[in-house]
Amino acid sequence: MQNITILGATGSIGVSTLDVMGRHPDEYSVYALTGNTQIEKLAKQCAQHGAQFAVVGDHLTAVRLEGLLRSLGCATEVLFGRDGLAEVASADAVDTVMAAIVGAAGLLPTLAAVKAGKKILLANKESLVMAGGLFMEAVRTSGSVLLPIDSEHNAIFQCLPHDYHLTNGVKQADAAGITKLLLSASGGPFRGWSREQMMTVTPDQACAHPNWSMGRKISVDSATLMNKGLELIEACWLFDVGAEKIEVVIHPQSIVHSAVQYSDGSVLAQMGNPDMRTPIAHALAWPKRIDAGVAYLDLFEIGQLNFEKPDLKAFPCLQLAYDAAATGGSAPTFLNAANEVAVQAYLDERIAFGQISQIVDETLTRLSFTEPESLDAVQGFDSEARSFSAAYITEIES
Ligand code: NAD
Ligand code: MG
Repeated sequence: MQNITILGATGSIGVSTLDVMGRHPDEYSVYALTGNTQIEKLAKQCAQHGAQFAVVGDHLTAVRLEGLLRSLGCATEVLFGRDGLAEVASADAVDTVMAAIVGAAGLLPTLAAVKAGKKILLANKESLVMAGGLFMEAVRTSGSVLLPIDSEHNAIFQCLPHDYHLTNGVKQADAAGITKLLLSASGGPFRGWSREQMMTVTPDQACAHPNWSMGRKISVDSATLMNKGLELIEACWLFDVGAEKIEVVIHPQSIVHSAVQYSDGSVLAQMGNPDMRTPIAHALAWPKRIDAGVAYLDLFEIGQLNFEKPDLKAFPCLQLAYDAAATGGSAPTFLNAANEVAVQAYLDERIAFGQISQIVDETLTRLSFTEPESLDAVQGFDSEARSFSAAYITEIES
């Protein structure tokens, strides 16, 4: 029996994780579920899955959640804030932590789980983008097992040799004969559009992803291709390769989730229907396989698979991420923070879609880069980029 904490249980990944776990009640149990604003949903999840603990952002919300839980006849204990998150991520009774909080808010609780040596199912790509070096070092030191949930990274992981260790920090790609990682991207809802055509698209248009159903932040990132940029940096850290070894491939059907090219000319790809329950089930059961509730792929129904190069002019966010990956140091932390602020401003309808890349670009141009030597330094860079981009948004609004 694996006892599991889900950080971000009320989100898209959290809900899919509970769905897979619910199919195998003899294998997986819920230790704790965390949420932020959707308290009713969290209360129902706790009651349904018998969570021992629930965590929310603040004391007032915790009191409200407690009321809801008791009215459902549910004894789940409620904690709150950063300390609450760290506690349920690192408790002795926990075997596995699903890290599915969106954005920089996921970093500290995920690191708490890493430091406690838990098995980590990593959906929160932003924590690797922000603090990849420190994060991977913490995984090595604690001996945590790290498994990627992001569908592309999970696909690449499945196509790597069995003795490829994600966390030993020794450049293994060359020795393993890996010549390239092919990172799939659907292209999002605006594939084939020009920058001018995209300038005024609404948040609902941007969030209407053709193949995947996801939270709003990652949906906007998919529409700007910043999601692929963040994933590029995520892949560099996870697989210990340079950005020059990673090629983004636009593949509109989202069937080939990514691939690994080897020196003998072989390309190993992982395929499946676009449903996050597949990578979640893979990581939960690894190295075994379990039913994920996902329909089997019907190649006859799909008929065709297409591949194109990304248009970096129309989607400047991807180029900005390539540049930040090459610069290293604090550049990816700045990129991630400025993007989070800009995407929120876009979702709040304060800026236009086309201005997201402008804000990230300006932040990266104006702030100076250094090497982050501690978690405090990373958080300092994150705050610096947030303040700068927020002020810049106010400036362009007026
Ligand atoms: P979502 O918006 O649906 O859910 C986010 C979760 O995080 C919610 O449970 C919310 O309560 C919690 N949360 C938000 N802000 C918080 C805060 N400040 N403090 C504590 N908790 C907070 O997002 P999602 O689509 O499930 O994505 C979650 C993560 O997984 C993201 O990092 C995303 O990039 C990654 N991911 C998602 C998908 C997908 O298909 N949805 C695929 C690959 C990777
Ligand atoms: Mg992905």
